[in-house]
Amino acid sequence: MIVMKFGGTSVESQEAVARVACIVKKHEHRRPVVVVSAMGRTTDKLLEAAAEAGAGRREQALALIDEVRTHHVTHGLALACAGAAELDRYIRAHFEWLDELIKGLSVVGELSPRSMDLIASAGERLSSLIITFAFRSAGMQTQHVDARRVIVTDDRFTQAQPLLENTYAAVQQTVRPAAESAVVVMGGFIGATQNGQTTTLGRGGSDYTASIVGAGLGAEEIQIWTDVDGMLTADPRLVPGGRRVKCISFAEAAEMAYFGAKVLHPATVLPAIEKNIPVLILNSRRPEAPGTRITSQPTPCKNPVKSISCKRNITVINIHSTRMLMAHGFLRRIFEIFDRYDTSVDMVSTSEVSVSLTIDDRQNLEPICEQLRHFAEVSLEEAQAIVCLVGENIRHTPGIAGRAFRALHDTNIRMISQGASELNLGFAISEHDLKPAAAALHKEFFSEVDPAVFE
Ligand code: ADP
Ligand code: ASP
Ligand code: MG
Repeated sequence: MIVMKFGGTSVESQEAVARVACIVKKHEHRRPVVVVSAMGRTTDKLLEAAAEAGAGRREQALALIDEVRTHHVTHGLALACAGAAELDRYIRAHFEWLDELIKGLSVVGELSPRSMDLIASAGERLSSLIITFAFRSAGMQTQHVDARRVIVTDDRFTQAQPLLENTYAAVQQTVRPAAESAVVVMGGFIGATQNGQTTTLGRGGSDYTASIVGAGLGAEEIQIWTDVDGMLTADPRLVPGGRRVKCISFAEAAEMAYFGAKVLHPATVLPAIEKNIPVLILNSRRPEAPGTRITSQPTPCKNPVKSISCKRNITVINIHSTRMLMAHGFLRRIFEIFDRYDTSVDMVSTSEVSVSLTIDDRQNLEPICEQLRHFAEVSLEEAQAIVCLVGENIRHTPGIAGRAFRALHDTNIRMISQGASELNLGFAISEHDLKPAAAALHKEFFSEVDPAVFE
């Protein structure tokens, strides 16, 4: 068995879904379980509608839902052929429910994370149904599975964590038997708590669904089909002309994803590592391209750096307390506060009485600063970015830091971290400097590449 996940752009339209059907058909003999994202920008629009409803702007919210409806009806029905009438009934019933939900929220004028998840889940619920009908009309024996019966999560709505034991049991019980005789189609991103409340795994979470299902099935391979040729040496929207990385280790891919490579959700590789299942990144518009293979033992690489990752919208927090001079427990007090507000810290640097750290989730920034101010002075630097070199060879190669500093000679570096994992070297810089800094680093480290690993 294999798992094939198709992202938003890969299923954005009738034409895109038709391409996906061709790709899956070629793999039918490998008994694929297909995990799909919402079509195109559906999730963004649903969340925008939810926010409008929460602010009491009912008409704006309903207009956005109507856009989503039109897109799904138009593209969905064209794909379903003989099943069009049945699919039409499903889609209409679904939007009636969504309209009622939006109207209810607009009256109350309040949006809880739980309601956000209910609304956001509509994207994958609809796309998975439409794609099921599309596969059937393309001649494949296909069975739809509601992901909420499989992915069992805790109740941290909008950022739910899967309960792996329960989920793997559900995969065995529900997905495996269905996949014996049909192509299974299920939505990514969504799950449910043990008592059946709909949750989501966080933005970009369909990749994570695919790897959880792959691990639960003990699949041969997890394929992530997207809109680029694989993992590239840098984000193509930031640095054009990056090279395709043919193979990369789980640890390197995880680090790249964590430090901003959107091509993969950061949690994706964890279930794959646990069961040692290779993950492939492939392009649904160029299915013949070989993509990137993520495994525990990739081909040895002559280049020290495999890729450059970037994260924007970072806040640097500087914490200074002379009262803490020579006192122990300073760091503990600080991190307890971040822990209490469920805010993860990416980069840290310390001196005797000062600590600088970076966060990307500003939701609880105000209460965090207020708590910190009980024992320290706090200052913030907004609109910062992290640019990060990732590669297993960084730790064994002398001179990497020297080359990086030379490339960044006219960039004002706010913080430096040679990651504890020893496979990254990261810099916090102003967002304004990100593009030239990433380009300079790319030029320094990828002007010459090992053809065994890069294309
Ligand atoms: P999907 O909808 O298929 O999940 P995403 O938009 O989530 O696709 O991820 C694919 C995008 O990730 C690419 O279009 C690209 O802009 C971005 N990206 C960022 N960093 C990298 C990288 N190092 N290699 C490839 N793509 C990257
Ligand atoms: N549709 C969800 C999102 O846009 C999940 C995903 O595409 O991976 O975040
Ligand atoms: Mg994605």
